[in-house]
Amino acid sequence: MQPHPYGRVYVLRLGHRPGRDKRVTSHAALVARAFGANGFILAGVCDPSVERTITRVTECWGGKSFHFECGVPPKRVVREWRKQGGEIIHLTMYGLPVDEIIDYIRISPREKLIVIGAEKVERFYYENADYNVAIGSQPHSEIAALAIFLDRLFRGRELKINYEDARARIIPQPRGKKVIGSGQC
Ligand code: SAM
Repeated sequence: MQPHPYGRVYVLRLGHRPGRDKRVTSHAALVARAFGANGFILAGVCDPSVERTITRVTECWGGKSFHFECGVPPKRVVREWRKQGGEIIHLTMYGLPVDEIIDYIRISPREKLIVIGAEKVERFYYENADYNVAIGSQPHSEIAALAIFLDRLFRGRELKINYEDARARIIPQPRGKKVIGSGQC
């Protein structure tokens, strides 16, 4: 792994099963990009379909600086993140309620690695997280958990993201679609 290629907020996606999870993982990566994270790390494996999706979207809608990485051993990512002064936030229904803890996380200047799981997450991540954070105490989805966490972290400002390098730009309409530059996508 490169010495510290990371920006401020990264997402580490555990437990991806190529083929089976490609849609869920692609959507998690798209949520990371659209809701203000600087990068997405697909743990352990690479899945070309996930990478293609994120590349296609960034080429059209901007954000080429969004970093995508795959195949990295996830425990090493966690250890290096910590060694370089960053903090680990693991999203799990067993954690502390987001509203009780988000102010501490937001106020901390440390770079943030947000860990999301799939089926079963190893104990290592619970024990090595600075924060185990629950988005409600019901099981749901890593995509929903990530979206809500980022929205709480950025206090809704992420919904106004506009990428300078976008080829296409939406002009919001009460009805119908208006897009400038979509011919270049
Ligand atoms: N039993 C799992 C857990 O620990 O949250 C639910 C597994 S769910 C299929 C896959 C991932 O979604 C989890 O690893 C977690 O990152 C996220 N997730 C699901 N429900 C969540 C919740 N209520 N709060 C935070 N994250 C959640």
